[in-house]
Amino acid sequence: MSALKRALSLIAPDELVALTRELVRIPSVVRPGDPNANEAAVAAHVEAWMRAHGLTVELQSVAPGRPNVLGILGEPQGDGRTLLLEGHTDVVTEGDPAAWTHPPFGADLVDGKIYGRGAADMKSGLAAAMVATAAIARSEAPLAGRLVVGALVDEEGDMIGVKHLCTTPIGRSLSAAIICEPEQNELCLEQRGVVWARVTARGRMAHGAMPETGANPIRALAALVADAPRLERRLRSLCARSRYLKPPTVTPTVIAAPVAGVPQSNVIPATAQATLDVRLTPGPDAAAVAKELDDACRRAADASPGVTIEWAPVNGFRIATKVDRDEPLVRAMVRAVRQATGRPARWGGVPGSTDGTILRMELGIPIVTCGPGHRLIPHQVDEHVEVAELVDAARIYVAAALAYLTA
Ligand SMILES: [Zn+2]
Repeated sequence: MSALKRALSLIAPDELVALTRELVRIPSVVRPGDPNANEAAVAAHVEAWMRAHGLTVELQSVAPGRPNVLGILGEPQGDGRTLLLEGHTDVVTEGDPAAWTHPPFGADLVDGKIYGRGAADMKSGLAAAMVATAAIARSEAPLAGRLVVGALVDEEGDMIGVKHLCTTPIGRSLSAAIICEPEQNELCLEQRGVVWARVTARGRMAHGAMPETGANPIRALAALVADAPRLERRLRSLCARSRYLKPPTVTPTVIAAPVAGVPQSNVIPATAQATLDVRLTPGPDAAAVAKELDDACRRAADASPGVTIEWAPVNGFRIATKVDRDEPLVRAMVRAVRQATGRPARWGGVPGSTDGTILRMELGIPIVTCGPGHRLIPHQVDEHVEVAELVDAARIYVAAALAYLTA
C-alpha cells in the first residue's frame, strides 16, 4: 500500500466527527474582562488530544489563559521544509441563544451536519488538521520535513496568537501554511485585505445657537463620509481585478461625537470620530492605500475651515494577499484534492483577512486557505458544517502534507 493510501485509511470519520463535536461543546468566546471567557479550556483539550495521538506538543503562552498549542511531527531536514496546518481556537459570540434552532454549544449532529458556534469557523477545520496529522503519524510515512498543526488564539480579535507565533523559532522556520478556514474546501490563493481607518476630526467647541463662533467637526466628518464612494472608486482603480474576490469597498461602520464628555443638544463638540472599514484586493502596498486615505481626509478638511482631520489604522494594516499557482504548496494541494476526493481542485477567494494574512505579511511564506464549511456561514446563527466536507478536508490535508513534505 502506498504511504498516501495507508495514511488516508487511518482517518477515522467517526473520530473526526467526535473531536469536532467535543471542540464545539467547549465555548471559547473571548469576553474581555472575564478571566474565564477565553481559549484555555479548548486549548487544554487540543493539547491532551495531540499528546494522546503521539504528537510532540509546544505550548506558547500568548496571554493569561490564552496559549497557542502546536502539535509537531517530524524534523526539518533536506530543504528544511516546515508546513503549518493552521487553525484558531476562539469563536465569535453566539448572540441570542434563543435565535438558534440548535443550541449554539450543543454540537447537534443532524442529517449529516454538525451545528454550533465554531462548527465551521473553525473547530471543524482544526479537528480535520489534527486528525490528518495524527493519521500521518500513525502511518509512519517518512516525511522530508516537519508538519506542524497549530491551534492559535485570538484570530477573531487582534490576532495576537499568530503575531506571537511569527516571533518564535518554530514560527520563523515555517516554509508554507494551509489555513484551514471554511472555504468549502476550495483552494483560495487570494485573500482580501482590510484597514480600519479611525478618523478623528478636531474643531472648536461652541454654542449651538452661535455656530459661527465654533468649528464643527461633525460637518467635516459628514463630508468625509459623503466622499467615501469617491475613495472607493480610487481604490478600485488602484487594486487588481480578481476573479475570486469582490472589489474594494469603503464602508463607514462607527461614528461618534462628542468623542469624550456628555453629549448635549446645544453644544457643538470639539471632536468627532468615524471608522471606515476599507477592504482591499491585491495590488497597492500599504503606503499607496494610506495616501488615498490622506487625500480623502485633506479634501474633507479643506471643505471645513477651522477643522483638522487625521486618521490612524486600528490594529495596523492587513494588506490583501495573493500567492502564485506555481508555488510548490499550491501544486501539492492541486494534486492532493484529486487524490483525496477524486475531483479536480476548485478555486476560490477569501472575502476577509485571516491569520494567514499575518503569516504572509510577517514571514513572506506562501499560504493557501482551504477548509470545510460554507464560506458565508461564519458568525451566523445555526452555523454548521457538513460531515462529508469535513472528512474531505482531513483527506486533503493528509495528501497535501505528504505531497509537500516528500517532494
Ligand atoms: Zn476563522
